[in-house]
Amino acid sequence: MASNRTAPATGALDPQGLLAAHESIANELAAQGDWRRAYEHLRSALELARSGQLQCAHPHIPEQYRLEVERLRRERAQARHESLTDALTATYNRRYLDRRLAELTAPSVALVDLDLFKHINDRFGHRVGDQVLQRVVGLLQETLPPDAFCARYGGEEFVLVTPGVRPEEAVTLAARARARVAEFPWSHVRPGLSVTVSIGVAPFRRDPGRRHDPQEQLVEADVMLYAAKGAGRNLVAHRQHGQVRFVPTLRARTTRPCP
Ligand code: GH3
Ligand code: MG
Ligand code: MG
Repeated sequence: MASNRTAPATGALDPQGLLAAHESIANELAAQGDWRRAYEHLRSALELARSGQLQCAHPHIPEQYRLEVERLRRERAQARHESLTDALTATYNRRYLDRRLAELTAPSVALVDLDLFKHINDRFGHRVGDQVLQRVVGLLQETLPPDAFCARYGGEEFVLVTPGVRPEEAVTLAARARARVAEFPWSHVRPGLSVTVSIGVAPFRRDPGRRHDPQEQLVEADVMLYAAKGAGRNLVAHRQHGQVRFVPTLRARTTRPCP
């Protein structure tokens, strides 16, 4: 196995031998998909080739390594991108969300759930359901502030993260996203198709007495989402002065008991 051969006895090899060892180990590691370590060996080979220690340095070798290192760098970047994005919708995934939420100091979060999506799949088929998810992501991402982002939370649920905005602004951004989805001409995708989302918002509120916990915020957003579903769907719910509010405002009642 290459993993047992990654530490050539440098003292026992001349520069030319060392170069060949780095190259062959890098090739083997790359073949196994271990790009990170293959890259390190190519870097070592590249440094060796540049160091002038080689008696008969082949003029093509540095260029060949430069290209290999570039290729590996691209592949690493691609692998990293894929590990943080959702394959279907190309938006960020849960891993990215958790990572970013842990480092952001003042994120507002909005949990978005497609309404009666199972019914859409049942009536129009799973492929149309997939197209709907892709289109909804596009609509959710429109006009987000520059450092805000959308991530797929799982299934037909997405999170909008808007760092550094005031609570009212977080609600307004969610309300606009809800309206964009509801107003999109879905019947052009399939006659009879209509799609709405419900959104629960948990704005960031500075509380000097407590450490900010993004996971608690997600729980609050989920509670608000549940309230929006219970109040009829196609709504944004958030808490203001302890009371649950809906956007658009409900005519018959503006607040509802909430767990
Ligand atoms: P509610 O308004 O209460 O949220 O109802 P709902 O039907 O949206 O909720 P439910 O949890 O009953 O169903 C969610 C559906 O989402 C079921 C599942 O098959 C579908 N779904 C999840 N991920 C995907 C996906 O990637 N593609 C498609 N087409 N459907 C998906
Ligand atoms: Mg759901
Ligand atoms: Mg749903």
